[in-house]
Amino acid sequence: MSYIKVVLKSGKDQSLRRFHPWVFSGAIKKIYGEPAEGDIVTVYDNKDEFLGLGHYQIGSIAIRIVSFEDIEVNEQFWEDKIRTAYQLRIDQGLVGDETTNAYRLVHAEGDNMPGLIIDMYDDTAVVQMHSVGMFLIKDTIDEILKKIFGDGLKAIYNKSEGTIPYKAKVNPENGYTYGKSETRIALENGLKFRVDWEKGQKTGFFVDQRDNRALLEHYSKGKSVLNMFCYTGGFSFYAMRGGAELVHSVDSSERAIELTKENVELNFPGDSRHDAFAVDAFKYLDDIKDKYDLIILDPPAFAKHNNVLNNALQGYKRLNAKAFEQIKPGGILFTFSCSQVVSKDAFRKTIFSAAAKSGRNVRILNQLTQPADHPVNIYHPEGEYLKGLVLYVE
Ligand code: SAH
Repeated sequence: MSYIKVVLKSGKDQSLRRFHPWVFSGAIKKIYGEPAEGDIVTVYDNKDEFLGLGHYQIGSIAIRIVSFEDIEVNEQFWEDKIRTAYQLRIDQGLVGDETTNAYRLVHAEGDNMPGLIIDMYDDTAVVQMHSVGMFLIKDTIDEILKKIFGDGLKAIYNKSEGTIPYKAKVNPENGYTYGKSETRIALENGLKFRVDWEKGQKTGFFVDQRDNRALLEHYSKGKSVLNMFCYTGGFSFYAMRGGAELVHSVDSSERAIELTKENVELNFPGDSRHDAFAVDAFKYLDDIKDKYDLIILDPPAFAKHNNVLNNALQGYKRLNAKAFEQIKPGGILFTFSCSQVVSKDAFRKTIFSAAAKSGRNVRILNQLTQPADHPVNIYHPEGEYLKGLVLYVE
């Protein structure tokens, strides 16, 4: 199979030689032909040396490398990659675990498959494509998943509406591409969650906070807890199981509050320790006095692009400053950023400024990140998007 050839400008081959998987449009010297969006192209340096094979797309990231070897990209190629990702989850103890059946099977660049996310919820795979090239092979991916999981897979839901550039004209529609799920209840460390991949955010649930929720459980005994930006309430029922005295879940979305209440009821029916409120975070945090001794701040990505980074950092600072000012003495703050463009350093400096503003003595107890089923390709540091700190506030 011969693919259309793309040659890079002199000096623009460096990042690919270090296995970074993106080619920016500005790095391209010449394209020998007219690739359609989603086509595989071969990338060469300007001395005609092979660099890699990748999916072509119009945009700032013009090529997403899928192989640094010159091989044919066919169904077997993708099957090998997905099987490798699956084996890694087996090695992590996530497959066949009786207490956890929600995990990320494919984490894009972190699994050497830029543009592809697959989350498993019990017997359902939720597939999300972020590149045209991946979207065009969705049927192949479905077949591979069926082959790997056999009877263990009852449904595949594709959720790529809104994650593929509309100009590509592939018009993705959300929906089942195989079977249909009955239960939609997933397990995480023995706790139950109703996952709504149809209407929910991302693929329906934030699997990336699993380890951090488990850590929170250990800090919760006897505490009054505020779970701010609760979404489906994940942190709340870990706190309840950990022995919290009171748990308040807050989110600006009414739907999120409904989901949280439903999930609390699934795990702790009729438990009066929990209450949930649909209120804006900044408003709620204005007047909590010293009601809480454990606060979780897990806001949505304040910055999606570099050009709004400064505003985002100000947002994190303002939010955290409010928590520092009001948390009970001896309180514990779990604070997060899931913005890819906010580095670990920048996040920590921002939290430092917020702490300094409050004038309180603050110590770092734990430094948190994403779990092992969200691996970070060492050559693609952008993949390390989740950052968190557990702080002791005197
Ligand atoms: N902590 C959650 C994930 C949080 S996602 C978990 O573990 O699953 C971010 C949430 O913030 C979303 O549910 C969104 O509705 C909510 N949100 C966004 N802006 C908000 C605001 N200004 N005030 C309160 N909640 C907000």
